[in-house]
Amino acid sequence: MTILRSGSATDTGLVRSVNQDLAVETTTLFAVADGMGGHAGGEVASRLAVDALLAAFGRQPTGAGLSEAVTEANAVVWQHSLENPELRGMGTTLTAVALVNEGGRDVLALVNVGDSRSYRFHDGAISQITTDHSLAEEMVRTGELTSHEAAVHPHRHILTRALGVATDVAVDLWRIQPVRGDRYLLCSDGLTNELEPDQISEVLSSVADPNQAAELLVQAARTHGGSDNITVVVVDVVVGEDDNGALPAVAAVAPDFGSPLPPEDGRSDGAAVPYPVSVADEAPPSRRERRRVKRRERRMARGRRLITVRTLLFVILFAAVIAGAFAAIRWYDTNSYFVRVTDNELIVYQGRIGGLLWYHPQKVESTGVTTADVPSAYLPALRAGVEESSVASARAYVHNLVCQQNTTSPSCGAPPPTPAAPSTTTTKGV
Ligand code: MG
Repeated sequence: MTILRSGSATDTGLVRSVNQDLAVETTTLFAVADGMGGHAGGEVASRLAVDALLAAFGRQPTGAGLSEAVTEANAVVWQHSLENPELRGMGTTLTAVALVNEGGRDVLALVNVGDSRSYRFHDGAISQITTDHSLAEEMVRTGELTSHEAAVHPHRHILTRALGVATDVAVDLWRIQPVRGDRYLLCSDGLTNELEPDQISEVLSSVADPNQAAELLVQAARTHGGSDNITVVVVDVVVGEDDNGALPAVAAVAPDFGSPLPPEDGRSDGAAVPYPVSVADEAPPSRRERRRVKRRERRMARGRRLITVRTLLFVILFAAVIAGAFAAIRWYDTNSYFVRVTDNELIVYQGRIGGLLWYHPQKVESTGVTTADVPSAYLPALRAGVEESSVASARAYVHNLVCQQNTTSPSCGAPPPTPAAPSTTTTKGV
């Protein structure tokens, strides 16, 4: 037994004023329709098509029944268009997948008309099942365009097949083996116009919940421009649990998808049917809409530039403050001196007593004066360190101490002596 689990999301996008897309989720049937046509035409067409699809498939829930349901949906939309001249020209795309039982086995039947797409996500890789029925895609098939050129071609929205624009329509139909763990993505072109397959694949591979995956894909399409309505249905293949909770394998009932099966009613494949259909998938955005989008893009660009300039200014200011603080600390440290007893000799140091942050005092010079040469009353202070404003004042201080101890010294009354060889050795931890 095969069980499907699904999630969906839809959004008007950033340019269109109404959402003409529709998503369908039942326990066995899932679909995306992308309506087109002026006024309310697109909304009416997608709604009529979806309602007709659900009703007809309910009467005949098989692969052939699904294909027939699309044919019936086409007839309903076409008839409604004939009876309501104001809706003339409306139409819709439709891609759908349904779980059906054929010959006692579960099969996924998948149909498509138009340029909405169905993808299969299997073993971490995404493959497009459906073929777009668009003029650009036809030109790719005939070699006139590459797929990259088709993605930006001005005629990429001209459809060669759609529901509701003619009395009949050819329906592409696939029968696919349901494989546990596979995901199916049905989407309108609002998604695929904005995101590359690998971007879609990344979301499908990383988000397990189908509703969350659908929401994330729609949000990503909005972030990348949202120039059209965006609709996504994600369908996961879950196989019924056995007693111990493990999921049994599924027997293959079809070789693989790859090419559509011929329609069941004897018509030739859609690609060969001369179809006089040339419908623009919604009118291109009006000049007013384009101006509005351009204004919004300019505002966003200005915002991005402003953020960049502000960020740069902040970084420069922050760096300047840090550099200023370092310079002030360094200045405070290097403009300080002190005299202290080290190994019974009075030494002049540069720096703060005990050090300042990561700066340690540096020995500037040895005075040659020992603790025996100065009055003992000064020794406690000298052992702790006596601050002086300069090297000269430190020398004068030591000279005065010597003169206090020995008033008969010949150098007393004369300027303090200058040592022969000052030392600049860094002394850590003094
Ligand atoms: Mg669309």
